[in-house]
Amino acid sequence: MFLMESIEGKIARLIRTEIRALKAYHVPEATGMVKLDAMENPYGWPEELKREWCEALKSVALNRYPDPAANALRARLKQVYSVPAGMELMLGNGSDELIQIILMSLARPGAVVLAPVPTFVMYEMTATMAGMKFVGVPLTPDFALDTEAMLEDIAHHKPAVVFLAWPNNPTGNLFDAAAVEEIVRRTQGLVVVDEAYHAFCQQSFMDRLGLYDNLLVMRTLSKQGLAGLRLGVLAGEPRWIEEFNKVRLPYNINSLSQASAEFALKHQTVLDEQAARIRADRETLYTELADLPGLTVWPSSANFILFRVEGRPVGELFAALKGQGILIKNLDGSHPALAGCLRVTVGAPEENTRFLAALKKAVLYSPHP
Ligand SMILES: *Cc1c(COP(=O)(O)O)cnc(C)c1O
Repeated sequence: MFLMESIEGKIARLIRTEIRALKAYHVPEATGMVKLDAMENPYGWPEELKREWCEALKSVALNRYPDPAANALRARLKQVYSVPAGMELMLGNGSDELIQIILMSLARPGAVVLAPVPTFVMYEMTATMAGMKFVGVPLTPDFALDTEAMLEDIAHHKPAVVFLAWPNNPTGNLFDAAAVEEIVRRTQGLVVVDEAYHAFCQQSFMDRLGLYDNLLVMRTLSKQGLAGLRLGVLAGEPRWIEEFNKVRLPYNINSLSQASAEFALKHQTVLDEQAARIRADRETLYTELADLPGLTVWPSSANFILFRVEGRPVGELFAALKGQGILIKNLDGSHPALAGCLRVTVGAPEENTRFLAALKKAVLYSPHP
C-alpha cells in the first residue's frame, strides 16, 4: 500500500501541518500598471551614474565566491548609517532574511515572537516557519502602541523577541519613541526596531544601541530605491551578531549586490534627494486624499499612505482602480482593524496624479451601492 501512496498523501505525511496551512507570499502581476503597491522608490538613476555603476561591476570577479563577511560594504554602511562605535552589523538578503536568521537562532520549542498588530506580515509568517508561537498585541484604534497591553503580554509570554516596525507597515505611523524605549527596557528578550522606512521619517534608535544590550536595529535598502538588490542590515551588540552569523549562510550577499550597494552608498546624496522628494510628495498626496469624500486617511511617516473607504465595498473601488491601470494594495481581510483599508505607495508626481484621478472617478462618479 505504501508504494501506492498519492502525492497528496506524501505531502500530508511529510510537510509540517503549519506549513501546509500557510499561503505563499503573494505578489500580483503588475506588467503595464502604475505600480503603487510595494513601497518601491519610483526613481531610477541618471544615465551618467548608471554608466559608472556598470563600470564598477566590470571588475567583479564572478568566478570567485563573494567576500563572505562583505567587509568593505559593512564598513561603508557603518559610516553612512552612523552606527555607534563598538556595534557590529550583519547583512541579509533583504531584511526578510535577517528576520529568518534571528528567528532560526531563537526557535527553541515553545519560544514566542511578539509584535503589535496589524504589522509587517513576515514576522508572523517567519515565526510559523521556524516553529515558533506568534503573539500579536492589537494596536489602539488610531494605530498607536497599546503600551499597557504590550507590557502585560510581554510579562506573561516572555517573548524571545519583540518586533517593532518603526514606522509601522501597513499603518504608516511612528510609534511614540518613549513607549518603544519603555518596551526595550521592560523586555527580557530581544527587541528588534525595524527601521525599513527610516529615510522617510529621519528618526532612529541607532544611537540608543549602546544603552540596551537587548536592542537591535534593522534597516533595508529596499524602500530607498534598491529593492532589486536585496540588502538588509542588522545592527547591534557584536556578541549577538556573532551568534547570528553562525546561522547565516556563508555567501548570502552575492558579489554583484555587494559591489552595487557599495557604489550606491558612495552616491548616497542621490538616494537622499529622492527620499526628500518622496516625503514632500507624500504630504501633497495626503492632502488631496483627505479632501476626497468617503475616505478616512491616516498621516504617514513612511513612503505610503493608508486609507479606509467608508460606506461602500472596498473591493469594488480596488477593482475600479485596477481597471484603470492603477495597482495599489488591498488590505481588507488581512486584519480586522484594516477592514475597508487600502494602502498606496507614494510614486512619482505623474503616477500620484494618475492614481488620484482614477480614485476621484471611482469615488465621485460611480453610483453608491
Ligand atoms: C518592506 C519591509 C521589510 C522588508 O524589506 P526587505 O529588505 O526588502 O526584505 C522589512 N520590514 C518592514 C517593516 C517592511 O515594510
